[in-house]
Amino acid sequence: MTKEELWQATLAQLQFQISQANFATWLKNTYILAKKGGQVVVSVPNNFSKEWLENKYNKLIFKILRNLDNEVREVNYTVERQAQTQREAASPAAATQEAQLELAPLSVDKTTNLNSRYTFDNFVVGPFNELAHAATQAVTKSPGSVYNPLFIYGGTGLGKTHLLQAAGNQMGKDFADKRVRYVSSERFTTGVVSAIRNHTMDNFRASYRDLDVLVLDDVQFLAGKDKTQEELFHTFNTLYERGKQIVFSSDRPPKAIAALEERLRSRFEGGMIADISSPDFETRMAIIKTKAQEKTLPLEDAVLDYIASNIQRNIRELEGAINRLAAFYKLNNALPTVAEAKNLLRSVIQSPSKFATPRRIVQVVAEFYDIREKDILAPSRKKEIVKPRQIAMYLLREELKSSYPFIGEKFGGKDHTTAIYACAKILKELQDSEGLVEEMTLIRQRIYSG
Ligand code: ADP
Ligand code: MG
Repeated sequence: MTKEELWQATLAQLQFQISQANFATWLKNTYILAKKGGQVVVSVPNNFSKEWLENKYNKLIFKILRNLDNEVREVNYTVERQAQTQREAASPAAATQEAQLELAPLSVDKTTNLNSRYTFDNFVVGPFNELAHAATQAVTKSPGSVYNPLFIYGGTGLGKTHLLQAAGNQMGKDFADKRVRYVSSERFTTGVVSAIRNHTMDNFRASYRDLDVLVLDDVQFLAGKDKTQEELFHTFNTLYERGKQIVFSSDRPPKAIAALEERLRSRFEGGMIADISSPDFETRMAIIKTKAQEKTLPLEDAVLDYIASNIQRNIRELEGAINRLAAFYKLNNALPTVAEAKNLLRSVIQSPSKFATPRRIVQVVAEFYDIREKDILAPSRKKEIVKPRQIAMYLLREELKSSYPFIGEKFGGKDHTTAIYACAKILKELQDSEGLVEEMTLIRQRIYSG
């Protein structure tokens, strides 16, 4: 294995184990400068990267390198100052950079923020996302006139961003004169904040209110951000009155977004709401096959079966598994057997927090309702705390079979009758309120999906 291949394989695994943002920040433009005996010298673009890799990722990088090549004893990082121009000319480094581009394709359009890799063609449709897919396609065919706004929700890694971006890309193609923009809610928020700070609110508003299609991803992030919500409300009204299309996504339905202004919530609910749930076995199989095909990775059926049976949580993980096996294939020039696949995928499949614990339940419920854990556990009677607390108590009973005295004690030192009352109340509400059923499903998903 050449040092380029070794680094390429390391990156392929790293990409899977650290967040995309971290990967892009710390590993861009890195490559193996030299490998002598057991020593590997990694070239990094600046001191910042060097420090970060040394302090935060060295263990992981070392482990991966060593797994790939058991000669490796030590990894060092170095910033090559003068080598800058040389590096660009040198072919191995250029090849590595190209390979990295292949790993993390970031072909994002500057005006629309759309990434061309997301299309309807490479989006697999199954019972779990059929409705969301159909609604998005309908909107794509006649923006502004069928479902407005369109609100798509579902858990993480299930394809919301892919679907939204595919719609944006398609509309950009079919309606060349329409101005389409995709924006994450975080970015929208940052935009509002800096427009306020720099007194450029007029420009900011104009840039959004001129659009024909606005796609806003992950609106749950707007919870509690009053100023941003207000801006969005006005932007929404302007676009809506002009018959422009608006598409939203969120990890939960509008009702379940805590700290959302009522008037904005009613806007979100004013059009079509479609959810994406978790893929069933057949669809997982179809997704894996598609992804393996894209990478020209002819995995044997038993391996495909193993992945589809064992990775159930979300599509991002399925994709990660395929990337890993593809790296193996490239390196060894042989397809992984089931045993090898098991070994390679161990860390994904046995990843933690598939188990509920009282702590995990409290943590997830608090996060879901945007309140503090310690408020759930304290005896406060505030309305916005009482319901989440009752839900947490109910989940302790249902998921962990905790005793009522234990539950009472845990939540503000209350007596067991309080716990019995809370559980009975939630059970009753679940029969009457579909909204609560949905929230409970999402909370459970989060508890078990880590
Ligand atoms: P979300 O925004 O819901 O967290 P993403 O849209 O980012 O999820 O999807 C995670 C990954 O899975 C992406 O790389 C995406 O391309 C892929 N993916 C999601 N849904 C599908 C699908 N139905 N068919 C093919 N790939 C999918
Ligand atoms: Mg997303």
